[in-house]
Amino acid sequence: MDGKVFCAGLAQYGNNNYFSPVMKYSSKLIADAVAEFTKLPGIGEKSALRLVLHLLKQDIDKVKNFGEVVTRMRTEVKFCQTCHNVSDHDLCEICANVHRDHAMVCLVETIRDVIAIENTNIYKGVYHVLGGVISPIDGIGPEKLNIDSLIQRARSGEIREVIMALSPTIEGDTTIFYISKKLRDMNVNITTIARGISFGGELEYTDEMTLARSIATRLPYENYLVKNSN
Ligand code: ZN
Repeated sequence: MDGKVFCAGLAQYGNNNYFSPVMKYSSKLIADAVAEFTKLPGIGEKSALRLVLHLLKQDIDKVKNFGEVVTRMRTEVKFCQTCHNVSDHDLCEICANVHRDHAMVCLVETIRDVIAIENTNIYKGVYHVLGGVISPIDGIGPEKLNIDSLIQRARSGEIREVIMALSPTIEGDTTIFYISKKLRDMNVNITTIARGISFGGELEYTDEMTLARSIATRLPYENYLVKNSN
């Protein structure tokens, strides 16, 4: 259920019970906590109540720590100045690692894609997180994505290959086409991962072997264009 609807529906009635459109509570504090949990994706009111009652049974210090960890995560996490991955420092651990191949850059849409590819344990290059794909219908133009910083990285001569690991959608293809045009005169090899894998939101459900293979068997971008124009 939508959390906002739930909050709006939260009301007090006669004998000091609090209720949402679904459930009644004898504590406003519990009702408020449940309402907060229902704002999380995939959490309905019954699941929220289960989590709240679980926390209620824990030591107070444990629950305090839980709250502090979440607050610190939100206030202190940074974005890497080079690749826009999440980081505790100005440079993420991947960009700061001298044992990685900094001339090989895997272009992905989101931080979740970085996590999924890292879990394959085969990729030894670095990343660039775009923050989405070009989608005029959603009002996302190239200027809203981390494209300029990628071009700057390429211009500095540090990049030998850009592996395009974007969604196999019209928006993903449009983005690859746009960026490959920008990189055209920069002596950068552009490759695409084997398609058929759904990247972006679906990537976390792709098994690691399949994902690893799709990176290992990547193709030059020109081949991809020829294949798709037939
Ligand atoms: Zn980084």
